[in-house]
Amino acid sequence: MKKISTRIPKKRGHVTQIGKLHECLLKRHSRNSFTSYPQGIREIRVKSLFLLLAAILLAACAQPATATPVPASSPSPLPSSPSPLLTSSPLPPTSTLTPCDPSAADYCLTDGTFLLQRPIAAPANDAVDRAYPYASTAGGTREPHHGVEFPNASGTPVLAAADGTVFYAGDDSSTRFGPWTNFYGNLVVLEHSLASRTIFTLYGHLSIVNVVAGQPVRAGDKIGEVGATGVAIGSHLHFEVRLAPEDYASTLNPELWLALHPGAGVLSIRLADGDGNFVTAPLSVQYFPDAGGAFTQAWQPDVYPDELLIINHWENAALGNLAPGHYRVTFLWEGVWQERWVEVQAGKLTQVEFVMK
Ligand SMILES: [Zn+2]
Repeated sequence: MKKISTRIPKKRGHVTQIGKLHECLLKRHSRNSFTSYPQGIREIRVKSLFLLLAAILLAACAQPATATPVPASSPSPLPSSPSPLLTSSPLPPTSTLTPCDPSAADYCLTDGTFLLQRPIAAPANDAVDRAYPYASTAGGTREPHHGVEFPNASGTPVLAAADGTVFYAGDDSSTRFGPWTNFYGNLVVLEHSLASRTIFTLYGHLSIVNVVAGQPVRAGDKIGEVGATGVAIGSHLHFEVRLAPEDYASTLNPELWLALHPGAGVLSIRLADGDGNFVTAPLSVQYFPDAGGAFTQAWQPDVYPDELLIINHWENAALGNLAPGHYRVTFLWEGVWQERWVEVQAGKLTQVEFVMK
């Protein structure tokens, strides 16, 4: 039976009184995390349990030398649970301090690299389509997605995501950018220098191209218009971030690069074995707007398939455009239920790493 080892952050910065309390709570949490439970789960009201556990934890933190071990996290009554195995830790861990090592902490909150402007401007739809995000197979019905979609009417202006140079502008009937030619139809590829590296952004299925190769562009310049050329179901912008311009296998998740909507955060998840190799498990992420309450939303983000792991991603799953608050990441690993509580903050990237041993 494989279980995750829980770890306390190795590095801690400012230790205040509050920090000490958080640290203690975090230790308590870690000590009691990732417990697997019998399948017969008893009905217990989470709210009252939360208050009870909070009181126990606070008391335990005040007297660490004589503290009684806190009971393991309790069964959840969540009536809308997608699985009867779901259990809830009623007291989420506090955020970790910086600097933070995701392999040593429950999770890390970082500034991320949200350096790209959105290629569609409001009032047009500037939100990534959640039905077919990066790596998604849309429930097994489509190829793993190497980019993200911005569904919009044909003719909607498409804007450069950052300062750069036009690497390519035209159609892909003779130059292959995807799995085959005539895949993106009319497209533009821009070259940028960002975060001390060269990256490329790709804009596919355009109805009109407004730039030519070699032309310098500024962030926000109009480079074309939304269309449905190439392999497209309806008019939309297909947007990619790449490390190499003509390499379909070198894409990064655009949601880890695009500027966030106000009030939103992003969660990235790494599932790896003890040697650092990515592993796959069916993930579930649930949003708990109120501590101790029931979750109100759940997602099953696709773990990146092998064809997207040719380059060195840190993560192998991610969720964008999340409301701030507490989330639980869960999955089954060799029959044992795994869970981790994490926090999402506006404008931040939350990184959570599971090391499966
Ligand atoms: Zn697409």
